Amino acid sequence: MIIIKTPEEIKILRECGKRLATVLYKVRDKIAVGVSTKELDLYALKLIREMGDEPAFLNYKPEGAKIPFPASLCVSVNDEVVHGIPKGNRILKEGDIVSIDLGVKHKGLFTDMALTAPVGKVNSASMELMAVTEQALQVGINMARVGNTVGDIGYAIEQFVRSKGKSEKKKYGIVEVLAGHGVGRAIHEDPYIPNFGKARTGAKLVPGMVIAIEPMLNNGTKNVTLDKDGYTFHTADGKRSAHFEHTILITENDPEILTKV
Ligand code: MG
Repeated sequence: MIIIKTPEEIKILRECGKRLATVLYKVRDKIAVGVSTKELDLYALKLIREMGDEPAFLNYKPEGAKIPFPASLCVSVNDEVVHGIPKGNRILKEGDIVSIDLGVKHKGLFTDMALTAPVGKVNSASMELMAVTEQALQVGINMARVGNTVGDIGYAIEQFVRSKGKSEKKKYGIVEVLAGHGVGRAIHEDPYIPNFGKARTGAKLVPGMVIAIEPMLNNGTKNVTLDKDGYTFHTADGKRSAHFEHTILITENDPEILTKV
């Protein structure tokens, strides 16, 4: 069931998104050679607690999971697509790319955001992968308008990514088994928002809907595998992956990015 948020909830979600973006950008600024992924996680948790809020992912147990997620921040390096578990012995190296994904609960409501950043100097293919993924998110956001459908978002993202990945050297796989989602009263709500699909299909977008759009693009195959830790998704071919996400409010006019400072 798609939940339309009340004006009071939207006010809280706007503040929640601002707090989340503030934290995530601070965590991004900590990304450097020699830093462990656990340090990033603990820093995110500290900042969230200082604001009087709660991390959404810590101890979150998705359907089918054996154990609750053991961290506040998902940190996914290089061929890790999403849901990487931070570790004290996972040290960032020059040339890595790191996806950080965070959810915040503020006054009982949730927002969700992710970005991918370079560690030091990274190769041009990785820079391009990150840029195309971030642009794909913006393409999706531009479709998040009254009268459009969930399918219009996926369709636009897919067409854009295909237009960018025409040569074998620059092939982008759109991850299909993971998707965006409604968000607000819970971290994951309806509707399910794939990053591919058919125009004019799926749920209609109406004012007051709050959705997380989150393209995940791989430098090779779209196929992913789940690590034995039960959470971390890897690209099936070991190539790199990038992920960008914003929480968006559907309005009568332009889409509003809630996860912004
Ligand atoms: Mg999400």
